[in-house]
Amino acid sequence: MEQLDCTGYDEAIEELRQREYPMLQGTTYLDHAGTTLYAKSLIERFSADMITNLYGNPHSASNSSQLTTRRVEDIRLRLLKLFNADPEEFDIVFVANATAGVKLVVEAFRDQEEGFWYGYHRDSHTSLIGVRETAAHHRCFASDEEVHQWADSEELDNEVAGPGLFAYPAQSNMNGRRLPLEWLQRIRQTKHSGMYTLLDAAALVSTSPLDLSEPDNAPDFTVLSLYKMFGFPDLGALIVRKASSSIFDRRRYFGGGTVEMVVCLKEQWHAKKLDTLHERLEDGTLPIHSIVALDAAISVHGELFGSLRRVSEHTTVLAALLYQGISSLRHGNGLNVCQVYKELSSTYGDASTQGPIIAFNLRNHLGGWVSNAEVEKLAAVKNFQLRTGGLCNPGGVASSLGLAPWEMKENFSAGQRCGNENDIFRAKPTGMVRVSLGAMSTLKDVTSFVDFLHEFFVQEAPPMDTPPVTPLSTEPPTTCQLHVESLSIYPVKSCAAFSVPPGKAWEVRREGLAWDREWCLVHEGTGAALSQKRYPKMALIRPSIDLEEGVLRIKLMGALQDATSRHEMTVPLSADPRMFSAEDVYRESNAKVCGESIQAKSYRSTDISYFFTQALGVACHLARFPAVGNGTGSMASPRHSKAHLQKYQKARGMHIPGAFPDACLLTPGTVVSKPILLSNESPILTISRSSLNRLNELIKAEGGKAAQAEVFRANIVVAQNLDCLPGAEQPYAEDDWRYLQIGQQYFEMLGACRRCQMVCVDQQTAERNQEPFVTLSKTRRFDGRVYFGEHTCHLPMGDTWSPLVQNPTIAVGDPVRSFGQDEADQDSGLWALVS
Ligand SMILES: *Cc1c(COP(=O)(O)O)cnc(C)c1O
Repeated sequence: MEQLDCTGYDEAIEELRQREYPMLQGTTYLDHAGTTLYAKSLIERFSADMITNLYGNPHSASNSSQLTTRRVEDIRLRLLKLFNADPEEFDIVFVANATAGVKLVVEAFRDQEEGFWYGYHRDSHTSLIGVRETAAHHRCFASDEEVHQWADSEELDNEVAGPGLFAYPAQSNMNGRRLPLEWLQRIRQTKHSGMYTLLDAAALVSTSPLDLSEPDNAPDFTVLSLYKMFGFPDLGALIVRKASSSIFDRRRYFGGGTVEMVVCLKEQWHAKKLDTLHERLEDGTLPIHSIVALDAAISVHGELFGSLRRVSEHTTVLAALLYQGISSLRHGNGLNVCQVYKELSSTYGDASTQGPIIAFNLRNHLGGWVSNAEVEKLAAVKNFQLRTGGLCNPGGVASSLGLAPWEMKENFSAGQRCGNENDIFRAKPTGMVRVSLGAMSTLKDVTSFVDFLHEFFVQEAPPMDTPPVTPLSTEPPTTCQLHVESLSIYPVKSCAAFSVPPGKAWEVRREGLAWDREWCLVHEGTGAALSQKRYPKMALIRPSIDLEEGVLRIKLMGALQDATSRHEMTVPLSADPRMFSAEDVYRESNAKVCGESIQAKSYRSTDISYFFTQALGVACHLARFPAVGNGTGSMASPRHSKAHLQKYQKARGMHIPGAFPDACLLTPGTVVSKPILLSNESPILTISRSSLNRLNELIKAEGGKAAQAEVFRANIVVAQNLDCLPGAEQPYAEDDWRYLQIGQQYFEMLGACRRCQMVCVDQQTAERNQEPFVTLSKTRRFDGRVYFGEHTCHLPMGDTWSPLVQNPTIAVGDPVRSFGQDEADQDSGLWALVS
């Protein structure tokens, strides 16, 4: 790796190594063996318990039931002790997650006759913010200063006669900032009994101890996500200070084991359990096996990682290094690469003010923002588990990013949603990147993450002003002709390709090549179309079109053969309505593609569904899109309806292979959205063999595995004729193509195709690789987005009676002619079509 421009960071790592920091000694902390060892030990301990003991539903006299009750009570005590909470003073209620703990508290406040007042800090997680909808009056505290002023005044908010509840996170889930715990005591001292406190410790306790040894200074209610501490089991907890538990007396709901007796026929009354708080609040059967697993988790976690204090020390040191590494990255021109969202009052390295989480955004060398979606894709390929977006923390994110409420609303109206790709609006990011460290994180994780940012986001030298050197050719390129090297269709969306046999004339329609993406697989539960991004094994489902037999033939390849009893199946090409699910004939089911609903009809045959369900291990149906016009009509197929087609306007200098966008295209601080298709759906996708060769040369030079054309889901591969001289190849010439003539048909180039990590699924083995996405990201990334291939659509000719119009076809081997805008203006045949 090249020398990072951050001496402080390198020195700190060296010093750390020399100092032999105890937490980093031993294999547990130096490699991922720690994670594996933890998971293995925990599951083995739990499974040994499950195999040896029988746990019955509690509340009966049987041995198995008694055993459960005993274990659960022991574990309750053990968990309380983990937080130094005296069982005389505190009770613990098992819930599904931290949010369920909040809801239980809220239920009690909501059932107070006079309603309640609710205050919450800006840094709150959405689980705390939603509480305001149930309160008679609520207030969001925009700063610590506002909290101090309010906490120090003895007045209760007099808008509401009922009690008050003040909630805040012990640690922000956005940037890991740790908020002062002394507020709890301060509020209790000035406000007395009318005001309660709710501490959201879900983020804090995953890497920090929480000390409840002094009940007077402790929160009235504390919520935890135990899975965030231990990874497993999926369980949460609510710790209640017993002195404040009377608030639950007014809780109206009861259920399961929380009542002693219920009468519901002639009279309606019930007697609530009175013994312990948790008995009153744990509605329904406890997740007893999860609670038993918690016992194993506490033990194994303690044995491997020591106390929560040690975890805190370990993560604090690592986070300080990571912060140093991230914040000292510089572009070649000296500009900062990362904008870190850290509170002024917090310091990395100081566990009382800062947890091991770093939230940031990246800038390019011109000061423009790098899209979160792009960072997330690259991180996924490099196997870093990070999170991006709004992070369920709207207040913290808005204040860090300087987004006013009107801007957030406007972004929302403009289509911005949590998790979508358009994450930069009006030159401001709408989310951020978050990395979190835990007990199992290592020094190597830190250094390799900083290296990763350096490798992909640091631009060493300012981009050249001069265009790249085009390969010297002894002959002018015009004499070197192009042809169709291959034609492929993808009969079942996201499954393997079918190659059109050489010489076979294949029909082109306005909505694409015949039979391309005619079918899809839809999830039985959600109705969404399945894709290789989530189900890479779809690459091993190999459909073919057999026009002689009139069937779509589907073969299962490779590993899928091991999972299935049947390896081949056929479906008639004719769309016989009787084959489709009865209600679908009248009320068409929705197949969701790219989040938008389009209509598809699912096959009713259970045999067909079973075939795909068994192959992929996910309950799904085969569905077919309804037929559209004969190819000369103007109606686009519904399967492509979400292709937000935009005319491709050339911006000179944009398409420099291997370079970042030219300075003229980006003004510092802004990100220009290019007139390029955002969707991965378009009628036809064309790629160039020369470009693929160039890409593969670069991949191989780095020791990577060359990419096959299939990973790009191309329909048409255009290549130079064999008699072209070596060196005459023109990689990425397609960036400047405006139209193509293939055989006797004309096509329009709609824009470059944006890529995601789906191109990394090997179409032979269904395994995920890093390539070609990594090399593409380094060489074909414009404005933070990665492009390869061109969206293309057929230009049908006017209404003549010639067979060329009625049955337009292309074939492998057809000659190809490309037109730039200038050439297009001069070609009369083409001109007649598009004018
Ligand atoms: C994760 C988290 C939550 C939500 O926890 P769940 O267990 O998902 O309900 C709430 N607050 C903070 C600070 C968190 O980190």
